[in-house]
Amino acid sequence: MEETIFTKIRDGKIPSVKLYEDEECFVIMDINPIVKGHSLVIAAKPYRNIGECPQETLDHMMAIAKKLDSKLREELNCDGTNILINNDPASGQEVPHLHIHVIPRFLNDGRSFGFAHDRYEDGEMARLGERLRLG
Ligand code: 5GP
Repeated sequence: MEETIFTKIRDGKIPSVKLYEDEECFVIMDINPIVKGHSLVIAAKPYRNIGECPQETLDHMMAIAKKLDSKLREELNCDGTNILINNDPASGQEVPHLHIHVIPRFLNDGRSFGFAHDRYEDGEMARLGERLRLG
């Protein structure tokens, strides 16, 4: 597996503020926070996206994200969090190494993800739903 900026951080070749580490993942504070306290739960191995990541590892990373959410609420008194994965470059992923953003949010903090919205034609949502049904 290739080296990424996050494998260099994992190995201590690039400094970081590390909040947690185990065999499956590690947590650092984001150097360019959307809101102060914004942190990243990063897979120990540089999977590019959730498809490459074993289910147990992804489950474990989400469990750590949940702990981080609790910690941010306790310590920063934030009112909520955004928990998100940019999954491949088309989604805005800049570092091709799977990570979960956990971003503290405060009521009226003025941050916005600013997505534009699309609109379905008549019947289009139901037709697409037929193709997207799981299981
Ligand atoms: P992505 O766009 O890939 O989902 O997010 C990558 C995140 O990694 C960005 O929020 C960016 O600020 C953060 N980041 C990139 N390089 C570094 C770094 O060297 N140190 C830390 N702590 N965060 C980084």
